[in-house]
Amino acid sequence: MSTETIFSKIIRHEMTADIVYQDILVTAFRDISPCAPTHILIVPNILIPTLNNVYPSHEALLGRMITTAVKIAKDEGIAEDGYRLVFNCNKNGGQEISHIHLHLLGGMPLGPI
Ligand code: 5GP
Repeated sequence: MSTETIFSKIIRHEMTADIVYQDILVTAFRDISPCAPTHILIVPNILIPTLNNVYPSHEALLGRMITTAVKIAKDEGIAEDGYRLVFNCNKNGGQEISHIHLHLLGGMPLGPI
C-alpha cells in the first residue's frame, strides 16, 4: 500500500498551498521553493508514487497533466517565450516527494538540461 504525502493533504485542502488550478483529475499549485519565476507542480489527485507505477490506464490522466501545464503556462504569460516540463523519478532522478508531479518551470532562460 502506498503512503500518502503532503501532496494528498494539499489536494484535499487540508494543508495550505497556492493552488492555481484544480479539477476532478489534477491539482496544480506553486512550488514552495521555486527554481524559476514560474514554478508550478501539476499532480494527479490519485496517489501514484513514481513514474514506475504508471500504467496504460493512467494515459488520460497523464494527458490531463500536460494539457493543464500548457493552459497554466498560457495563463502565466510564459508560453510564447517557452518553458520546461519535468518529471523526476526516484533517487537518481532527484524525486523527493513520492506522488508523481510535473514541474512547470519558466519565466527565465533555463539553459541546457
Ligand atoms: P521532486 O524533487 O520530488 O521532483 O519535487 C518536489 C517539489 O515539491 C520540490 O520542488 C519542493 O520544493 C516541492 N515541495 C515540497 N514540499 C512542498 C510543500 O509543502 N508545498 C509546496 N507547494 N511544494 C512543496
